[in-house]
Amino acid sequence: MSAVVAPVGEDHARHLDAADPLPARRAEFHVPPAAAGPHPEAAYLAGNSLGLQPRAVRAVLEEELADWARLGVEGHLEARRPWMPYHEFLRDPAARLVGGLPAETVVMNSLTVNLHLMMISFYRPTPARYAILIEDGAFPSDSYAVASQARLHGLDPAEAVVRLRPRPGEDDLRTEDVQGFLRAEGDRVALVLFGGVDYLTGGLADIPAITAAGRAAGAVVGWDLAHAAGNVPLRLHDWGVDWAAWCHYKYVNAGPGAVAGCFVHERHLADRGLPRLQGWWSTDPATRFAMGPEVDPVDTADSWQLSNPPILALAPVLASLRIFDDVGMEALRAKSLRLTGYLAGLLDALLEGLPARVVTPADPARRGAQLSVRIAGPPAGEVCRRLRHEHGVIADARQPDVVRLAPAPLYCTHHDAWRAATALAAVLGGPRRG
Ligand SMILES: *Cc1c(COP(=O)(O)O)cnc(C)c1O
Repeated sequence: MSAVVAPVGEDHARHLDAADPLPARRAEFHVPPAAAGPHPEAAYLAGNSLGLQPRAVRAVLEEELADWARLGVEGHLEARRPWMPYHEFLRDPAARLVGGLPAETVVMNSLTVNLHLMMISFYRPTPARYAILIEDGAFPSDSYAVASQARLHGLDPAEAVVRLRPRPGEDDLRTEDVQGFLRAEGDRVALVLFGGVDYLTGGLADIPAITAAGRAAGAVVGWDLAHAAGNVPLRLHDWGVDWAAWCHYKYVNAGPGAVAGCFVHERHLADRGLPRLQGWWSTDPATRFAMGPEVDPVDTADSWQLSNPPILALAPVLASLRIFDDVGMEALRAKSLRLTGYLAGLLDALLEGLPARVVTPADPARRGAQLSVRIAGPPAGEVCRRLRHEHGVIADARQPDVVRLAPAPLYCTHHDAWRAATALAAVLGGPRRG
């Protein structure tokens, strides 16, 4: 319980929206209809799972379709944004999003593919240093990916993959426990791969501290930033992160299965000794069409690309990243802290006495936009169905017992947060309606 009692009225939510120095950019997004409750639009708190569609996406996509229709193959060089160097148009905004240098940043593939490409280069086990350190609660795709990488090297994942657990009764790993493990046993760790923001609890890892501890132990440190990119400010270059990968369909709003991002620290870019999987997009574009027998990589993250990229899938990323550039991650984070803090206060006040508890860290510095509520009683999926169908609130469930509420600050309002919190309290405590 927080000591501060939040004013829980709807008027207060409206007042906070009217007074906010960074108004929601809701009008720039397609918000699904509510279909239930008194409001026409849904309160959409599932942007941690799939961000809403920016209205600007359609125009950018239509430009690519029109150029393809008008130019055919000549669009590779003559489209208004030529397709051949298309990924370069995304490089600077993606670098700004994660605090990478442009040379360190590339938009390509999907997240799990990028995790694999990075592990091909950066997980190089030896008999003495062979372990991959992950969180026990890692996202399944990451768990499967690291296990398959261990097998690729002829190792048994049961031995090669070391899973760190939170302390009994706690939901998130403590930074000091990760540091302690790395000090004590880090000499067998080849790779540390953690999530920047935990998909289940919403906890934000101390990325610089864990990166420093992993590197001090002699390991390579990679980050999965699926729930961190577009959610919290990142400074990957300054923090010395070895590599990172993230998707663009959660907080970055670039559409289902959007092309992902990848970061490789400058210190690795010219290292020709790193094993890599390669294709024709790995080679220097200046000589690519000489079609020589050998790859001649450039010393940027671009050289981890394999294929010519899907232009129609990159176009929405371009449109979404423009919004982040326009608003700026620092201003967005300030708004996010206000919104999420407000929602946390409401949940504290409204869930009191109900069989539900927020498991996200209470310290705003240790979380992003997501608050996770663990529910004892009705299954989380059933709670989310009722939120949707009785209240027009879109949240998401992680079975069996967690409801995730993410007031994404680009399009969510304090009023949305108020709707979500009051609806959740009604579903958990109030009489069943409808
Ligand atoms: C969303 C998410 C993924 C999804 O992987 P895709 O390759 O984009 O399907 C992977 N890892 C984490 C931590 C995620 O949150």
